[in-house]
Amino acid sequence: RADASNGASDNEDDVQNLVIIGSGPTGYTAAIYAARANLRPLVFEGVNAGGVRGGQLMTTTEVENFPGFPEGITGPDLMDRMRAQAERWGSQLETEDVESVDLSARPFTIRGTDTTVRAHSVIIATGATAKKLGIPSEQQYWSAGISACAICDGASFMFKGQELAVVGGGDTATEEALYLTKYASHVHLLVRGEKMRASKAMQDRVLRHPAVTVHFNTGIDDAYGDGKALQGLHLVNTQTGEKSDLPVKGLFYGIGHKPNSDILDGQVELEEGGYVKVHDHCKTSVEGVFSAGDLHDTEWRQAVTAAGSGCMAALSAERFLSERG
Ligand code: FAD
Repeated sequence: RADASNGASDNEDDVQNLVIIGSGPTGYTAAIYAARANLRPLVFEGVNAGGVRGGQLMTTTEVENFPGFPEGITGPDLMDRMRAQAERWGSQLETEDVESVDLSARPFTIRGTDTTVRAHSVIIATGATAKKLGIPSEQQYWSAGISACAICDGASFMFKGQELAVVGGGDTATEEALYLTKYASHVHLLVRGEKMRASKAMQDRVLRHPAVTVHFNTGIDDAYGDGKALQGLHLVNTQTGEKSDLPVKGLFYGIGHKPNSDILDGQVELEEGGYVKVHDHCKTSVEGVFSAGDLHDTEWRQAVTAAGSGCMAALSAERFLSERG
C-alpha cells in the first residue's frame, strides 16, 4: 500500500477515497460495496471488541438467522467470510484501532495506532458494546447460558422449554422478557430497584403476562452451573440483603448498550446516550462522513440490519464522491 503512512502526507494523490472504521457486518459490507465500485476503501478493522477484529459476532457461537446459511454458521466463520469477500474485491485492511479523527475539514484525517491517513469520505461503523453485569462467572457462562441478545439466541435448543431470566428494568429488558415467552416455560424479570423504568405500556404487558414473573429489588450476585452450562443464579434482595437461588438455564442481559463513539469526540452530532445522529439513513452532520450499523441503531441491532446499513453507507459515499468530482 503506497498511500497510508505514519504521518499524513500533503500530496492530494495520497488521499484515500474512503476510509471505513470498523470490521463488523457493517464495516465489511460497506467495504464489499465500496471495493466493487472501485473505490479501494481502506478499512481500519479495530481490535477492541474482545481483542480481535470482526466485531460483536466474534463473541458468539452459532448465528442462526443470517440469510443464506440454513444450517447456521458460527459468528467467527461468518465474519471471516465477509472479510475474505471484502479483500477479494480490493479493500485495503489495517488491523488496528483508530485513536482519533479530524473531521473539521476535508480531506479528513484518521489516526490509527500505527497508520495515519487522509480521506475524502469516511464511514464510521464502530458498533456498540452490550453492557455487562461483571459478575464473577460471567466469562465462564458467556454463550453457555448468558446472552446479550434474546432475538439472536432465544430460539436456541439450550433455552427451549426452560425457565429463563432477564435482567433490567427498561424497555429493552421488558421486550426481551416478552420475546422469550415464545420459547421459555417461564421468564423471570429481575429488576434491581423497586420499580421499572420501562414505558407504562411495557410494564403493564410484563406484569399481566402469565409466563412472566417480575422480581423487584433483586440483584444478581453470581451465576452457577456445572462449568459448561448455566444452571441458576445466586440472587440478593437489594433491600433486605436476603440471599436466594433461582434455578434457570439462561440469563439475558437487557441493561443497555454503549455506542463506540468516543473517538468522534463531539465532531459529529450525537443523540442522547452517544449514538450518532443520522439523516437520510446514514448521513451524519458532517458532509462526506457516514455512520452505519449499531453505532446509530438503537432499535434493531441485528447482523443483517447492520450489513444493510453498511451497504447504504457505501452507496451514499460513492454518490458523494462522484458528485464531488
Ligand atoms: P460491531 O459488530 O460491534 O462491529 C464494530 C467494529 O468496530 C468492530 O470491528 C470493532 O473492533 C470496531 N471498532 C470499534 N472501535 C474502533 C476504533 N476506535 N477503531 C477501529 N475499529 C473500531 N445479530 C444477529 O443478527 N444474529 C445473531 O445471532 C447475533 N448474535 C449476537 C451475539 C452476541 C453475543 C452479540 C453481542 C451480538 C449478537 N448479534 C447478533 C448482534 C450483532 O452482532 C450486531 O448487531 C452486529 O455485529 C452490529 O454490527 P456492526 O458492524 O454495526 O458493529
